Amino acid sequence: MRFDSHDDGTVRAAALLVNAATPGEARGRVYEPLSGLALREAVTEALRSAGAADLGVVTSATAQGLVEAATTLRGVFTAVASGGLEDAVRLVNEAMAEHEVRPILLRHDDDPTWHIHQLGTVGGLAGQWAGTCAAALSVVIGSPAATRLGLCTAPHCDRVYIDTSHNGTRRFCSTPCQNRVKTAAYRARSTA
Ligand SMILES: [Zn+2]
Repeated sequence: MRFDSHDDGTVRAAALLVNAATPGEARGRVYEPLSGLALREAVTEALRSAGAADLGVVTSATAQGLVEAATTLRGVFTAVASGGLEDAVRLVNEAMAEHEVRPILLRHDDDPTWHIHQLGTVGGLAGQWAGTCAAALSVVIGSPAATRLGLCTAPHCDRVYIDTSHNGTRRFCSTPCQNRVKTAAYRARSTA
């Protein structure tokens, strides 16, 4: 799987944001979303992974704005995972409209080539990145890789992931979840 290289990082950032900022279950335990400085740092880390290398720790307001965006982004992953591609399309289109996403040619200090970025243009830094994440997901959804947006299938886990496996057969958010399911299956077999 290969998205445009910039979208690639941004799609990963979207998954990191969703997993840091939305409640639910993670790897067998109840997940309480991060707050305060831990949330700001996790949001910053997600944005850095999408190429915002020189970003300082984001403000509480930016973090809060991205927590709200993360709820919508989670909806996109869950819609795809449950086969509701049309719901995913609607959510992504609404998010791009809400953040007034526009294309802009940019280049970075470490890379002299110009390339197109899609940025949210309202709502400050949070709106900018919320729009960018929605646009990156739109590229995935509008491609044969749409089903690569996943929701962990292990019991008591609802974390999202991007399936970057060679043949697109990933089912779990993480190795711990894969191991939990394997162990449970082994126990079930040995007590049968
Ligand atoms: Zn999991």
